[in-house]
Amino acid sequence: MANKRVLVTGAGGFIGHHLVSFLKQKGYWVRGADIKEPEFAPTKADEFELLDLRRWENCLKATRDIDEVYALAADMGGMGFISANHSQILHNNLLINVHTLDAARENGVKRYLFTSSACIYPEYKQMEASIAPLREEDAYPAQPQDAYGWEKLVTERLCTHYGEEHDMEVRIVRFHNIFGPLGTWEGGREKAPAAMCRKIAMAKQTGNPEVEIWGDGEQTRSFCYIDDCITGLHKLMRSDYAEPLNLGQDRMVTINQLADMVADAAGIDIVKKHVQGPQGVRGRNSDNTRLRQVLGWEPEISLEEGLARTYQWIESKVKEKYNVEQYLTAD
Ligand code: NAD
Repeated sequence: MANKRVLVTGAGGFIGHHLVSFLKQKGYWVRGADIKEPEFAPTKADEFELLDLRRWENCLKATRDIDEVYALAADMGGMGFISANHSQILHNNLLINVHTLDAARENGVKRYLFTSSACIYPEYKQMEASIAPLREEDAYPAQPQDAYGWEKLVTERLCTHYGEEHDMEVRIVRFHNIFGPLGTWEGGREKAPAAMCRKIAMAKQTGNPEVEIWGDGEQTRSFCYIDDCITGLHKLMRSDYAEPLNLGQDRMVTINQLADMVADAAGIDIVKKHVQGPQGVRGRNSDNTRLRQVLGWEPEISLEEGLARTYQWIESKVKEKYNVEQYLTAD
């Protein structure tokens, strides 16, 4: 294992950065590739290459002399971004995935793990807040809500066919809302847990308890802490399982409950202000039956614990950037 040469694409992003650190600790030789460097902490990769992976020749460069690829690069963000940029997302992510996968084949990569998403599941199975957890076989007949989900589904198929027709093993993971420190927390691409932590940190700093929530806040999701995500990813890569597999928590909460948990972590009372905004599907949860069967494991870190760690980090970023305390006491 220590001699294995691994490529992590999207290594400048949230999950990719954490994955590089984990793989280095395990003794792998790691190359990271991304169009940007990690934003919040230096990479631990042996090599880090700034490459636009929409381009075939860059994918060939990234996958040279590599045994295993974790394919995480994607043009993505939270609901606000995903629901407003369909053509860009479909265009960019198709190019990234078609080229990275084929370059891996060309360079003789032995194992390829593609990071798909719960967004591939059909909208008609997610119309109610209290829905049945989604099993892997629920993906078809397909009807993802957004172009982001359609692209992930098509790339799942592409990976499966490459695995069948070429000398390359594939692994496909479907993440359900991964969150934690060192992820995007402002700017429009942040996801719900990070946005909530930022809004509540701002409320704490300014003393204004109002926190905006998109919609009535009764839409449901499950959220999985980053350390569990990385452990699961590595276990899946080492397994012999080639079908798509859910990776997430199976504890469903409403966005209102999520807000209350973050407020607890911050130690303040908040006033929820429900405003219009993109909400995605009404309800979503992960069925972890197959995850437990295949990996003999499931995520272990509680939502409260994960949110407390994430809140602490985002509060420190809010203080650092806005220096609100100083501003408020300036005169
Ligand atoms: P992220 O946005 O933090 O990381 C993605 C990285 O891909 C970014 O650093 C970005 O710069 C890079 N990238 C974008 N375009 C590129 C290009 N043309 N060439 C090279 N690199 C490019 O997102 P993340 O949360 O770390 O997600 C990682 C993967 O997991 C993505 O494929 C995402 O779709 C998938 N996923 C994430 C979640 C989640 O909850 N975070 C849920 C489902 C699926």
